[in-house]
Amino acid sequence: MKFKFILPSLLEAESPFWRPIKYSLFPPLGLATLAAYLPDGDEAVIVDQHVQKLDLDDDPDVVAIQVYITNAKRAYAIADQYRQRGVKVLLGGLHVTALPKEAAKHADVIFTGPAEESFPRFLEDLRQGRMQRVYASQTRSIQKIPPIRRELIQRRLYLVPNSIVVSRGCPHHCEFCYKDAFFKNGRSFYTQQVDDALAEIDRLPGRHLYFLDDHLLGHKRFASDLFNGMKTMGRVFQGAATVDSILDGDLIEKAANAGLRSIFVGFESLDPANLKQSNKNQNLGRDYNRVIERLHDLGIMINGSFVFGLDGDDASVFSRTVDWAVEQGITTSTYHIATPYPGTLFYEKMKKAGRLLTDDWDRYDTRQVVFEPQCMSIDELKNGYDQAYRDFYSWRNVFHGSLAHGTRKHQLKHFFYTSGWKKFEPLWNLAIQMRQLNGMTHLLESVLSKVTGNFKNAAAFNTHTQRTPEMSPDRLSNINSQIT
Ligand code: SF4
Repeated sequence: MKFKFILPSLLEAESPFWRPIKYSLFPPLGLATLAAYLPDGDEAVIVDQHVQKLDLDDDPDVVAIQVYITNAKRAYAIADQYRQRGVKVLLGGLHVTALPKEAAKHADVIFTGPAEESFPRFLEDLRQGRMQRVYASQTRSIQKIPPIRRELIQRRLYLVPNSIVVSRGCPHHCEFCYKDAFFKNGRSFYTQQVDDALAEIDRLPGRHLYFLDDHLLGHKRFASDLFNGMKTMGRVFQGAATVDSILDGDLIEKAANAGLRSIFVGFESLDPANLKQSNKNQNLGRDYNRVIERLHDLGIMINGSFVFGLDGDDASVFSRTVDWAVEQGITTSTYHIATPYPGTLFYEKMKKAGRLLTDDWDRYDTRQVVFEPQCMSIDELKNGYDQAYRDFYSWRNVFHGSLAHGTRKHQLKHFFYTSGWKKFEPLWNLAIQMRQLNGMTHLLESVLSKVTGNFKNAAAFNTHTQRTPEMSPDRLSNINSQIT
């Protein structure tokens, strides 16, 4: 049989003239994971519309489409076209799990929750002629799963072809996170076996890796064994973790010794009331400054994630958050307008309170306001968010953020990484258009190489502690849990 796996894109990701680098970062690992379950003899192709042209004029037997909230409309349109021609269409992913009835109108089969167990069950049913309409995840494990079909991925189209996921989910339960909806009715956090994870790492060429796990330090023993195993592999890597795990024990030191050079940290809010309201208990009462000091002492750059528009936020939140991040020398900031994703408790609360503004899923991209904020207007929230990005990445603040580091080498590293990321987007776009992104990976590896020399968290070096209003600030989004 011929299987076609599709990751539809948002419209803006498809422009032939301008394609933001964020759409060309990671290959669709989830689809490559599912393709690994096909028996020998079946044909498989993966099309990621973020980086490839999608040809609908073909004749696969089965089309499997991964749906997330902002690609849902396009996913459904593609599904409808194939179904009209009698092709069997499967839909799965975060959005399908959150709104199965909506998705089912466009599919022959839907998958809810992670699909490592349900997809092989479906394959067996398909061959036996007893295909069901819905496959809900029953048991959850990623131990002894077949190796990801990486040969189906066109590496040169991605900046980070060596992305990898060694766990699923997260042990926490933040109210605005899609995770609980995706993993409900079963385990919501589990890992591979360490040996399998190390073998997968070993298969990847080059030095750089990006762990797309929601929380790489979430399972202490697993993470510790993984980092011990990686110590001699000569890798440099990036990943994500929570503030409490960075302060806890010596796991973060082990990660640094294994090659961790940059980490995504969900600070989300500087206001304890917001953290409490969001059930972000792992952040409550934690010393954010200490988190940053610890990471910087280990030479780990920080990508801080912040959410704007929670009920404790008024219009002063933007400059306060940006000033703090610059002051602390956070390398890159990712800002989100609070977004009540369907399936989350946040969504239910906003719906009950009559505060939702739209159910146009295209607008649920964390850059637009889709609910009525409590302590500011919709315009204040949108404008403040835009201004926060402009301010954090202003040359002035890139410079000041660099000065938060105590050695010239660290200052330069911060300066080049931050400015390279945001200030040279036209160059990234050129590399995307020329399909030469993979060639930039060496540059990334060099920037992430260990900087030697003692680091002092040197607020004292930063003479400009008084910030001007010019200053201000999440998957990939971690896109890992879109893995179905
Ligand atoms: S927001 Fe982050 S820490 Fe919270 S549940 Fe989601 S993945 Fe876990």
